[in-house]
Amino acid sequence: MSSAAHPAIRFCRSCGAPTAQALPDDGDTRERAICTSASCKTIHYQNPLNVVGTIPHLEGRVLLCKRNIEPRWGKWTLPAGFMELGETVQEGAARETMEEAGAQFEMEDLITVISVPKVSQVHMYFRARLTSDIFDPGHETLEARLFSRHDIPWDELAFQTVRATLERFFDDLDRQQRNTHHFSLS
Ligand code: ZN
Repeated sequence: MSSAAHPAIRFCRSCGAPTAQALPDDGDTRERAICTSASCKTIHYQNPLNVVGTIPHLEGRVLLCKRNIEPRWGKWTLPAGFMELGETVQEGAARETMEEAGAQFEMEDLITVISVPKVSQVHMYFRARLTSDIFDPGHETLEARLFSRHDIPWDELAFQTVRATLERFFDDLDRQQRNTHHFSLS
């Protein structure tokens, strides 16, 4: 997961010629990076990226991963990452959970859908019920462990969307509810 905004596309992804920012002539209302090669003219659309992840939980505790990668090296996060082409949101969230935590779990329901317009991202987290408390984290993770609400390193979390999802999870748990929360963070 990156916190960087989308960089401009300066060279055509199809033919390598320089691009120019211009309005496409199809009635589009935004300027796009358009290939300047007359034989190509490919229009490069840039759209928000989806970040998908889980909040793995076991008997009221949640699994956090200590990041072994930048950005936010050494900070704690929920397993999450960018969706890959050709996968569903659930498949992407499950893949990230296996890669980053090596956890065994059952996918459950959607807990948060968070728009982050400042970086043009949408973050989606699913509850995942852990079926084991043994973890085998991959190279992106220094440590994976379970935390109860009062043990969570709230000041050492990697991302605002992680904090927001954790808060919703424990608030729902207190009320014995399972809601899907959708909101935006700046
Ligand atoms: Zn081109």
